[in-house]
Amino acid sequence: MTTLMEKAHAGLVTDEIKCVAVNEGADADDVRKYLALGHIVIPKSINSKSHPVGIGKLMRTKINANIGTSRDYVDIEAEVIKAITAEKYGADTIMDLSTGGDLDLVRKRIIDAVNIPVGSVPIYQAAGKGIEAMTSDDMFNAVRIHAKDGIDFVTIHAGVNHESFRRLKNSDRILDVVSRGGALTLSWMKHNYEENPFYAEYDYLLELAHEYELTISLGDGMRPGCINDASDRAKFEEFIQLGELVKRARATGVQTLVEGPGHVPIDEIGLSVTSMKHLTENAPLYLLGPLVTDIAPGYDHITAAIGGAVAGMHGADFLCMTTPAEHLALPDQDDIREGTIVTRIAAHAADLTKDGVSERARAVDREMALARKELDWNKQFRLAIDSEKAKKIHARSKNVDTCSMCSELCSIKMMREVMGKK
Ligand code: SF4
Repeated sequence: MTTLMEKAHAGLVTDEIKCVAVNEGADADDVRKYLALGHIVIPKSINSKSHPVGIGKLMRTKINANIGTSRDYVDIEAEVIKAITAEKYGADTIMDLSTGGDLDLVRKRIIDAVNIPVGSVPIYQAAGKGIEAMTSDDMFNAVRIHAKDGIDFVTIHAGVNHESFRRLKNSDRILDVVSRGGALTLSWMKHNYEENPFYAEYDYLLELAHEYELTISLGDGMRPGCINDASDRAKFEEFIQLGELVKRARATGVQTLVEGPGHVPIDEIGLSVTSMKHLTENAPLYLLGPLVTDIAPGYDHITAAIGGAVAGMHGADFLCMTTPAEHLALPDQDDIREGTIVTRIAAHAADLTKDGVSERARAVDREMALARKELDWNKQFRLAIDSEKAKKIHARSKNVDTCSMCSELCSIKMMREVMGKK
């Protein structure tokens, strides 16, 4: 089989590339060129029915919504509704992070429910029988099962290995490892006195990814879990290794994303993003936030959006949605809605500053400014990221053509007269 990356290398502008180019207002041959270089990915596996979505250079900043059961809370219908909700409110991709119940069933139901690419973390399924019983075959088999079901991209924590673990042990971190996949991998390595199979047998993983056209999202198992740990040696050690793994994947025609932190104070985000981009030779960068402070549980969708906007401005390509439930509980449908919308705001704020994207993004803001000047409420609602909420709040302003904020003292209205533009 020839992968999309190999076709792009050969100069072919495939249907997926054409579709992404149209959606992004980009030149199709530029998309092909950057896909061949690995600076753009289009996660779409051979068994997938998802619409092609481009992530990376020249692309609008994308957002992912995490959903999935936990071992305490298994309600497949609720997860399907969350997936539909995330897509409705603008998620570009979904990740099924389920760890409880019938994982095969919930994955299939979620894939069937949405039209956007779906990702997963196969080690969660492999570890279902317990870390002590899990074998390296279980880990690779889980990847194959997910690929057969039509998963488009998989998080693989191949950068969690003896070398990055050594760095971690020598560090002064407060929160050692907060990545669930990272912690599972280290527990397995400790129990078996062996190297991480996804690292030791990375070539086999690439064969599997090539066979199913799976995009590998190289997980940041050593990601910082608090701002104190944001820019330490363990994180950068992992990134050096992820850069090498990206290079090996590209050489075999397999598309890769790289995942990043986590929790980073605002003044370290630029350094974090640019060094990750540099070490991975401009692989599309997928950030989990980053949250810019640790003291706002209940509002972590906002702390993450602040970080996501700054990170996007510095070159992050893909933002993982954070919900108000982060650090507190499994998110419900309202949390997913709120988190998706807030992350879209962060992505759009970043797009206003990005080469190749800002012109389109700024045109929407300009339209909104003109609609405000015209006091054209319907147009404002149409352009709003969350039109439902905007409409609901404006409905409190009864019997005025302006709004109840200033009513008759509406400065827009007054200035029409001042400027002679009735
Ligand atoms: S009333 Fe005030 S807030 Fe409302 S549209 Fe006019 S200037 Fe803006």
